[in-house]
Amino acid sequence: MSNKNSNENVQPPAGGEPYLLTPGPLTTAISVKQAMLRDWGSWDEDFRSMTRQLRSELLAMIEDTQNDFECVPIQGSGTFVVEAMLGTLLPRDSKTLVLVNGAYGQRMVKTLERIGRDHAIIDKGDYLPPRGDEVREALDADPAISHVVVVHCETSSGILNPIEELSEVVYAAGRKLLIDSMSGFGALPLTIAGLRFEAIVSSANKCIEGVPGFGFILVRRSELEQAQGCCHSLSLDLHDQWVQMEKTGQWRYTPPTHVVAAFIEALRLHRQAGGVQTRLERYTQNRDTLVTGMRALGFETLLQERWLSPIIVTFFNPADSAFEFDRFYQLMKAKGYIIYPGKLTVVDSFRIGCIGQMDTSVMLGVVEAADKSLAEMGVTSAEPPQQALEQRSKL
Ligand SMILES: *Cc1c(COP(=O)(O)O)cnc(C)c1O
Repeated sequence: MSNKNSNENVQPPAGGEPYLLTPGPLTTAISVKQAMLRDWGSWDEDFRSMTRQLRSELLAMIEDTQNDFECVPIQGSGTFVVEAMLGTLLPRDSKTLVLVNGAYGQRMVKTLERIGRDHAIIDKGDYLPPRGDEVREALDADPAISHVVVVHCETSSGILNPIEELSEVVYAAGRKLLIDSMSGFGALPLTIAGLRFEAIVSSANKCIEGVPGFGFILVRRSELEQAQGCCHSLSLDLHDQWVQMEKTGQWRYTPPTHVVAAFIEALRLHRQAGGVQTRLERYTQNRDTLVTGMRALGFETLLQERWLSPIIVTFFNPADSAFEFDRFYQLMKAKGYIIYPGKLTVVDSFRIGCIGQMDTSVMLGVVEAADKSLAEMGVTSAEPPQQALEQRSKL
């Protein structure tokens, strides 16, 4: 594990506001916040050119040298663009296999139920990855399945799902893959040459480090062309949003102008620092520093090394009866760090994000704050309950 500083300089928050160790909204650069200090007319050429720029820069990130893909942004949080993707790209008579291993996979199932699209589920519980063999079996067993959807980094545990392996199986079986890469895009390498897929979605406030307000899809043009009239929803119809943007350069309905301006600045910082690879390095160093430091205090990660993402890490709550998450949260906040509660069903845990305007010096500060907070609570050991470790060893 490396501890050196990445090439990417970060801008710490001003005015003593706490760091957000959360997977979006996250700590943004001061220049990103400053980019919001003026107003734009949504029909004006200045704003239309920002929309063009964000679309082409996002496309460039997947290195679509064949020019087969389109980028379409849409208003709302990440869930809106996931629903827009499912509603627009899954034909009404399609059947979709949803690979679930956490809250975001479950949310896609709920969405399909709500919008009335037939589906099957492979549910791996809280922290096991879906694997190629089981997906192949499910596809072989049910020829009606036309699409597979998967979460790239399942932010509820922080697990990095093996999407290359899954993509190979899906296309070998002649089906199509859609990916929720909300918390990975911009930091986890995703190129057309490296991975086959029909569409991926992400949003402004994750690894590009913008502020919340819109999501976007990178989608094969032929899929969009076929999707006219498919969507269950007017405002979430990505086909119609695309047609309008191509024709007029404008969003349908009021765009989040300030959020777009902030995003343009966030993209500039991302590009200037060295793009996806540099960001991955910085987040990886953040994670390594965090995990090494927390382990030295006695904490343990939910996941084994192999499945740890550089995005967010889940730690077991200590077994010590003096530990109380709410108290720990408040003590950490008082020291300038906002952490994230766990989202697991079986064992108690909390999460610490590695993304946002933070480097290893911030992560060392987090570890020191955790150490002090434990002492203030009278917790003598951060070791997790034996039962939690036993469960993990089954992974
Ligand atoms: C953040 C996130 C979403 C979207 O959540 P919103 O709260 O709607 O922004 C979806 N999927 C994953 C994996 C995420 O991390």
